[in-house]
Amino acid sequence: MVKTAVSRKMIVEGLMSLGLKRGDDVLVHSAFSSLGYVEDGPRTVIEALLEVVGSEGTVMMPWPLGNSYLARVFSEQPGVISSQHPTHAVSATGARARMYLKNHLESPTACGPETPYGRLIKANGYILLLGVDQDRNTTLHAVEEMADAPYLSEKTVTYVDADGQTRQKTLKKFPGPHRNFIGLDRLFREEGVMRVGRIGNAVVRLLRAGDMAEVALTALRKDPAAFLCANPNCADCVSQRGRIKQARLQQESFILTAFSSELVADLKEMLAILQGQGISHLELGRVAGRSVLEMTPVERTRLRQELKAHQFSVSAINPEWNRWPITEDPDPDLARFREILKVAQFFDCQHLVISSFKVPAREENRYRDQVLFRLTEMVKLARDQHITLLLENEPGFYAASSDRCADLVESVGSLFLRLAFNPANFARGGEKPFLGISSHIRKMAGQVYINDALFSGSPQLPGQGNAEIKELISILRCRSFDSFFCLKPGLGAGKENFNRAAECFWQMLAEM
Ligand SMILES: [Zn+2]
Repeated sequence: MVKTAVSRKMIVEGLMSLGLKRGDDVLVHSAFSSLGYVEDGPRTVIEALLEVVGSEGTVMMPWPLGNSYLARVFSEQPGVISSQHPTHAVSATGARARMYLKNHLESPTACGPETPYGRLIKANGYILLLGVDQDRNTTLHAVEEMADAPYLSEKTVTYVDADGQTRQKTLKKFPGPHRNFIGLDRLFREEGVMRVGRIGNAVVRLLRAGDMAEVALTALRKDPAAFLCANPNCADCVSQRGRIKQARLQQESFILTAFSSELVADLKEMLAILQGQGISHLELGRVAGRSVLEMTPVERTRLRQELKAHQFSVSAINPEWNRWPITEDPDPDLARFREILKVAQFFDCQHLVISSFKVPAREENRYRDQVLFRLTEMVKLARDQHITLLLENEPGFYAASSDRCADLVESVGSLFLRLAFNPANFARGGEKPFLGISSHIRKMAGQVYINDALFSGSPQLPGQGNAEIKELISILRCRSFDSFFCLKPGLGAGKENFNRAAECFWQMLAEM
């Protein structure tokens, strides 16, 4: 701690030693009190700044968002003008003050190219952080705009204009709540676009706005989440990362969905977890421990409303209903199936995941006709409602092997019967889903589960078992697979298991 008073001379020397000089334009973010005791108060700092850049230079301070004492005093000085902006106003004086401030309010965004921040980048002027860190470096928002970061959103603000009129303005590409600008500090130092010094007690950073923007833009292009924090409990950054992933999915032909039974009981939390992974589709199995078939009509209506309110679509219903040993009489099953179709229609979804009935081991062939009869009847009923059945392969059920799956699909012979291709279940049955199963069976897939396991059966994170998940995703992308990849990791319900599995999916996708 410096105990002596900070003088104008000390400030001038400090700024010049950092490289600020006559004729420069500088945008100042500050915490006046960080300097320690300053002789004659804030005006000394302002005079020092003006002395260094001279009449050929320009001094600017954001106002009033920063709520800084120095900025307020600065804005009250004779000759200082302000941009009338409801959220990101700037005060300025000097040679190019009017050029920087003109039409700030008319700009469609708060920090874009036609604002003081964007113009400072273009002019490669200076940013001075006086006793504050990168968190206050508003010009980084201009860089996010330049990169068109997918997490920027619209914001409508109400403000009082210069004539005392209350007005509204919708700002595009508005910066969201939390950021990790602090995490860029080291990058700027290492890339040589920032010098760090000290004036009084204040740590002072001086950056070239244009050079900084170039470095930050490169970082952002390499990793669209470069400005966000990695704290898994920061709801702001989790949801902003979700927006990046959502934008990434829009470049893909497939649709990413997830099986509800493996998430969490609380629906709102479930949807927040999915949004954090860029997912806006849901395969409806269980919600809060109850299957969609067990819900009352009121519960179903509430669920549908909630999904709609959060802009979710139901990719498929998966009622896990025909998981019992096959019986002689198909009529009760078909009657139940009609009810299930109504539920699928209620959720406005066009896909229904089914199993193939339990049959005794090693006697499967004896049951082929019975299974085929039911499937054929079910497909007829579904087709009338424009609903496609997705048949999931699973050990212990009739459709355990790829051969039997193919036989069923080909024998029914309708486009309304496709496979819910489960690679982990094929691996459990000893089949290699990519190398061992012919590509024409893969082409029967109306959905592929992102579900991995060892040949021995134990579930694994996607890409870490024997189910050749990565190969499947990659080859399907090669032919613009336009159906569902459904995250069903099988690692046990819960947020952490789901997020770990989803991150594996995203990692694989990032490598393709
Ligand atoms: Zn954060």
